[in-house]
Amino acid sequence: MHDIAKVRASLEQRLKELDERSEEIDDELSEAPDPDWSENAAESENDEVLEGVGNLALAEIRDIKLALSRIDAGTYGECTKCGEMIDPKRLAAVPYATKCIKCA
Ligand SMILES: [Zn+2]
Repeated sequence: MHDIAKVRASLEQRLKELDERSEEIDDELSEAPDPDWSENAAESENDEVLEGVGNLALAEIRDIKLALSRIDAGTYGECTKCGEMIDPKRLAAVPYATKCIKCA
């Protein structure tokens, strides 16, 4: 069995990184639009990319918070579908996985 305290620490660390990153993205997105039209066009393309990154970060934040609450509840590492233990190798690769390989 893997060390749950270690898993929790690394999830919390990752959560902190993601929080900081999504704040940076928010800052970039809320910058005032450039008055020059051509630069403005390039800027909004860039904003779309940033929004995509931001959405990914938000999805991961949600998954990590879920994993942390499952650690608290003592259900971490169990497949939410079949109730079997998730392969520790899988959890090492995707620490917030909620389903075993068969159910994913
Ligand atoms: Zn399963």
